[in-house]
Amino acid sequence: LPQEFTAALPILETITTAGFEAYFVGGSVRDMLLGKAIHDVDIATSAYPSEIKALFNKTVDTGIEHGTVMILDHGNGYETTTFRTETGYTDFRRPDSVNFVRDLAEDLKRRDFTINALAMRADGEIVDLFNGLEDLDNHIIRAVGDPVERFHEDALRMMRALRFSAQLGFVIEDTTNTAMQAEAHLLVNIAVERINVELSKLMLGKAAGEGLLGFAQSGLFNYVPNIDMGRELDIVAAGLKLQGQTLSDDATAWTYLIDQLGLSEGDAAGFLKAWKHSNDFSKQVKTAYHFIQLYRQQTTITAWELYQVGTALPIAIAVLKLNFSSFDGDKYLTAYHSLAITNKRQLAIDGQQLIATGVVKPGPKMGKILADIEHAVVIGKLKNHLSDLLAYAEMLQSKGE
Ligand code: ATP
Ligand code: MG
Repeated sequence: LPQEFTAALPILETITTAGFEAYFVGGSVRDMLLGKAIHDVDIATSAYPSEIKALFNKTVDTGIEHGTVMILDHGNGYETTTFRTETGYTDFRRPDSVNFVRDLAEDLKRRDFTINALAMRADGEIVDLFNGLEDLDNHIIRAVGDPVERFHEDALRMMRALRFSAQLGFVIEDTTNTAMQAEAHLLVNIAVERINVELSKLMLGKAAGEGLLGFAQSGLFNYVPNIDMGRELDIVAAGLKLQGQTLSDDATAWTYLIDQLGLSEGDAAGFLKAWKHSNDFSKQVKTAYHFIQLYRQQTTITAWELYQVGTALPIAIAVLKLNFSSFDGDKYLTAYHSLAITNKRQLAIDGQQLIATGVVKPGPKMGKILADIEHAVVIGKLKNHLSDLLAYAEMLQSKGE
């Protein structure tokens, strides 16, 4: 057993010694069987949350209403969830009620895909009620039970199917795929933040290209913010171009998507807002996208433009490389790193010092003078030495009076 599991064995033991059942479940079991790195080890148990809390000194109620308690042990946290069934799903996204049960089978039945419905005992034995092991071997994503029903319960599962297929390089089984096409419209019931998480993970997958093709083919793209019917071919093109390629981070992925959709810079800003990206994230993407647009228009990039793209340069380079096979990213990185400064803070003088020297009086002109100095240093017109900057500031000040 991988170390992540052996570290958690005492917890399983404590629960089973008290007379309850406890298993490792979900993604960690799947990833271990695939020989992949394990993120978080999730535990499912027949013990009720109150019973878990009575057994351990340190617990946190991370989702007590769903039966989840985090057990803290030697600096690790283990999400421990009581076996449960779910009923209702009148809103296509979450159950009207959850019921705690004592039977593992009931719990595994409510899970989304067969490869995610595996449980593992402390001795390493796998409980596989839905042929998840076979699907794991054959690289198949298959809904547990009737896919139409399962997608009606929770429409996010359709995006999760695409996401897992992209992450693992698996194929979505036919009946499951057909159900996705038929029920794609239910995705409108799901909060954009949750769709965002799945689409982001999809785009970072090793088979992101196929994932985007599935996003187009299933029709799911029709039911997400700011992407309409007419965009099918753009999504297909985005998928085809990505085949055999991977995107390294979220900002690159979303810049790539926006570029493939051919949005104006204004529309890109609205797109990022509609998808509820954070301001910082959106700024990086917009800055990278601006650089990409500049490159497309003029192919020669000035020092000032390089300075302005700043830390978003690697994002722009990654996307440009996908578009232009001969694009020389290193050339721009080298040029960027040979700029006199890459950040205003690297100037040999700041506003306070300017005032302290008496060269510039505090006031609205200060900002303008500093900006002029910054620009002159970046474009190589002025050396970033204290004496040069002071002389330049003095000149600007006297010129303005
Ligand atoms: P990851 O590596 O991305 O965390 P994961 O399989 O652990 O993958 P989680 O979203 O962390 O995915 O969920 C843990 C487990 O809970 C899943 O493996 C699955 O069994 C179950 N699960 C999660 N979301 C759903 C859902 N929407 N419907 C049904 N079961 C779900
Ligand atoms: Mg997980």
